[in-house]
Amino acid sequence: MPAAAPPPAAPRPPPRPGRAAWRAARGTVADEDAAWAAWQHHDAHADGRLWIGVTSTGIYCRPVCRVRLPRRENCRFFAQATQAEAAGFRACLRCRPEQAPGLARVDGPATLADLAADWLRPTLQTARPPALGPIAARLGISPRHLRRIFVRRHGLAPLAWWHDQRRTVRADPTPTPAPAVPPCR
Ligand SMILES: [Zn+2]
Repeated sequence: MPAAAPPPAAPRPPPRPGRAAWRAARGTVADEDAAWAAWQHHDAHADGRLWIGVTSTGIYCRPVCRVRLPRRENCRFFAQATQAEAAGFRACLRCRPEQAPGLARVDGPATLADLAADWLRPTLQTARPPALGPIAARLGISPRHLRRIFVRRHGLAPLAWWHDQRRTVRADPTPTPAPAVPPCR
């Protein structure tokens, strides 16, 4: 029996520098009062222009993130996500700040459900569906929430969708022709 492909795994994070380094980190935003106000109000206009490192957790977020607001003295404000990374902060799994510039709505339920479908699709050739837990964890949501947004987006629960897609794939006997490779010249 062919073994099921392992679920997509997040790359191993590098060792974390520790609290002293985060506390010593200098923000790169000139107007910290405005940055703090944007963070307090989860201002969508600041999304893509402001990132906040939290020294009590070592995590950095986008201003739109709905995590509990930390104390202001624990916040370091950055004008670039890469600067927060360089200071040793790790990306929040809920708002995915490292993906913000190109995927401003990555935390939208439809986008998350589409991402989950994208990750499930390559496993359709395997004997068994992958576990949902790691997929939900990778998206920074609970398996229950993943199921809910998946049904709303695709009309079926993830596992029912997987079986349905698999039937479709198997019912189509036409093999996809391999693209012609032009000869080397
Ligand atoms: Zn966050």
